[in-house]
Amino acid sequence: MSSIAGAGTGSSATSPSDVAPASPVRRTKLPLVARRLEVLRVEDLSASMRRVALGGPELAGFRSDGPTDHAKVWFPPDGRPDDAPLLPSEVDGAWVAPDGATCRDYSIRTFDPGAGEVVLDMAVHAHGPAGRWAAQARPGQQLGLLGPKTTKTPPMDRDRYVFAVDETGLPGLQSWLEQLPAGPRVRVLAEVGGTADEVPVPEHPGVEVTWLHRGTAEPGTTTLLPDAVRDALTELPDDATVWLWAAAEATVVRAIRGHVTRSGLDKRSCSMTGYWRLGVANFDHKSEDGQA
Ligand SMILES: Cc1cc2nc3c(=O)[nH]c(=O)nc-3n(C[C@H](O)[C@H](O)[C@H](O)COP(=O)(O)OP(=O)(O)OC[C@H]3O[C@@H](n4cnc5c(N)ncnc54)[C@H](O)[C@@H]3O)c2cc1C
Repeated sequence: MSSIAGAGTGSSATSPSDVAPASPVRRTKLPLVARRLEVLRVEDLSASMRRVALGGPELAGFRSDGPTDHAKVWFPPDGRPDDAPLLPSEVDGAWVAPDGATCRDYSIRTFDPGAGEVVLDMAVHAHGPAGRWAAQARPGQQLGLLGPKTTKTPPMDRDRYVFAVDETGLPGLQSWLEQLPAGPRVRVLAEVGGTADEVPVPEHPGVEVTWLHRGTAEPGTTTLLPDAVRDALTELPDDATVWLWAAAEATVVRAIRGHVTRSGLDKRSCSMTGYWRLGVANFDHKSEDGQA
């Protein structure tokens, strides 16, 4: 058994938590529940992204409101996708994982209580168990879900938004665009392999989307996204209120953070997270490396 990074019990609070004074993001803690869910549908969104809809009786009580809410997804053993996933349990107030269990973080793309469906959009790749599971996903298989632990409402009242993502940030980006009101100008910078890896982007009256194609370069190895952010920052009017959200490979996000710092944009106008790290399995996005 091992304890789970970032998974406190969450059992004591269901009301809005204290807001850190410096953060304009409103956070509401949710009761942490481990659920065993069934794959209801699988859909190809692009050559490298699959949509997986999950449901079942254990979805009761599920909640997710914010565009970047995420949960820990629990997978069957690597190579045995039809087995049941090993799920964590709460022991003496801490969540622990059974030996051999595999979990990774995924954004909650949508939750439809009426349809009894929670949807994840999962990047397909051969380098890790979650990417391999996504490649073969089929209705009838099972996944586990722990969380979201917190639902977060970021500021929706800014003049300008800049979103910088790779494939792993595309689900959050799509949710952002669905939730943002009309009014702000929105710059989307999205790095993918090529045209076949682009996904449909929800309509928003102020959006301008730039797809950055890395071609044959490995994900997480180019400066395409940081370079594009650097250029986008120079185009922002001095008096505009801004929100910048970046979710991509960790060293790429670090480079973005460097450009943000040099631009003088206030840290409280940004949320930047390394969603994975090249060469690291089960990267902890809450580690210093994920936030640095
Ligand atoms: C808050 C949060 C939300 C996220 N939301 C999503 C989401 O909605 N959809 C999504 O697809 N991902 C999402 N991710 C990213 C996902 O958790 C990671 O990509 C995870 O590492 C995949 O697990 P794995 O088992 O495939 O690879 P791991 O076992 O973790 O890593 C094994 C190897 O695979 C490589 N690797 C990991 N991810 C990728 C990748 N995407 N492309 C290429 N190589 C990779 C690593 O370099 C590593 O060497 C999110 C991450 C966080 C922190």
